[in-house]
Amino acid sequence: MLSSRQTAAIGEAGKTGTWRTMKPIMHDEKCIMVKTGKLSCLLCWMFCPEISVNRTIPPTFDYDYCKGCGVCANECPAQAIEMIPEKENPSCESDEGGN
Ligand code: SF4
Ligand code: SF4
Repeated sequence: MLSSRQTAAIGEAGKTGTWRTMKPIMHDEKCIMVKTGKLSCLLCWMFCPEISVNRTIPPTFDYDYCKGCGVCANECPAQAIEMIPEKENPSCESDEGGN
C-alpha cells in the first residue's frame, strides 16, 4: 500500500551514502511511471532499505543515504536503474537522478 512513508534522517551511522562503492542512476525513459505519466509501480521506492528513493516521476535518489546495495535496480521490472561505480560519478548530494 502506498500511504505513509518515513523520511530519511541522520542516525547513529551518520550519512550512510559515504559507505557506497556503487551508485544507482536512473534511465528516465525506461521507467514505467515516465511512460504512463502515473504514480504507479514504485517497486524501487518500496524495496529500498534506506528510504533513499524519492517518490517522484521519475524516482530520484537521496545520495546522502543511499548505500549502493542495488536492491532498487534488481527490483525494477523495466531495467530503468543502473548501478555504476561511485568513483566514476562521485556525489553524495540528494536528488541526483535523471540521466
Ligand atoms: S542502491 Fe537503491 S535500494 Fe540500495 S540504498 Fe540506494 S537507492 Fe536504496
Ligand atoms: S521500479 Fe523501475 S519502473 Fe518502477 S518506478 Fe522504479 S524505476 Fe520506474
